[in-house]
Amino acid sequence: MQKPVIVVHGGAGMWRTERKSAGLAGVSAAALAGFDILRAGGSALDAVESAVVTMENNEVFNAGHGSALTIDKRIEMEASIMDGKTLNAGAVGLLKNIKNPTRLARIIMETTDHIFIIGAGAEKLAELFKLEIANPFTELRMRYWTETKEKLMRGEHDYLPKLHTLVTSNPQLFDLGTVGAVALDKDENVAAATSTGGFSLKFPGRIGDSAIIGCGTYADNEAGASSTTGIGEIAVKLVLSKNACDSMRSGKTAQEAAESSIKLVNRRMSGGSMGLITLDMAGRIGAAHNSQNLCWAYMTTKSRHPKTALAARIVKETA
Ligand code: ASP
Repeated sequence: MQKPVIVVHGGAGMWRTERKSAGLAGVSAAALAGFDILRAGGSALDAVESAVVTMENNEVFNAGHGSALTIDKRIEMEASIMDGKTLNAGAVGLLKNIKNPTRLARIIMETTDHIFIIGAGAEKLAELFKLEIANPFTELRMRYWTETKEKLMRGEHDYLPKLHTLVTSNPQLFDLGTVGAVALDKDENVAAATSTGGFSLKFPGRIGDSAIIGCGTYADNEAGASSTTGIGEIAVKLVLSKNACDSMRSGKTAQEAAESSIKLVNRRMSGGSMGLITLDMAGRIGAAHNSQNLCWAYMTTKSRHPKTALAARIVKETA
């Protein structure tokens, strides 16, 4: 068995040239932050939290600082975390100004009897635990919002009432930059975490896959761990992270599971933009996507530095 291991992603979709090198540096730093914890004997849960927090603090990613703007120019962040040992999980949504949504998701998991708390209730809990408040707005995301809106106004893209149709037919409109991490620690426990600002021009109040256990995030010591990125509505319909974990539970390697989940997306959802990272209980890593890019990194005891890439296995097949 290969352990400890960490795999992180900084989002699927299309990575613009201006963000590519910062994205690769960002996922590398996140993988290293998580791996340092694992190498020192820390838990997979601490490792995925730390990796994702590192990316939430980096404005190149669409999570925490630098989150995408809703159609009415607000920010509503969401995140989730799951412990594969106990199946305990925590999730948050509709956060305006909590610096690290993933920390709050973990607080919900560990200090409440609930899993998913959104908006004012979640912010009240953040206040109670003295979590840092920060303004997540950035110039970059404002510019992306304006550019996307202008394209729509010029009629270059159909702005149809059904958001799903819109994003499926125009995936290039959206800067999919959600972040996520999966890890296996020395005690053979897995964990997963995912955090996002959603995507540019999303409807206020919309919650996607990243905050929903089983869809954006899943971890189970009897199966493995997974974190997804892409059009959240698709991952919700297919319960995609759980789907990948169930493939590993039935004996598939992490890579086979990731590819089979993307084939499912291609088959059932006509190939809407998606990507995911996976980790099985033997410490094998997996990453697959049907989008142009997946910004990701991993680190094991075999490497002195994280390995990074802007693409993994691109899957276009349906079966
Ligand atoms: N999955 C995210 C969402 O739909 C977007 C992303 O992956 O960037 O909210």
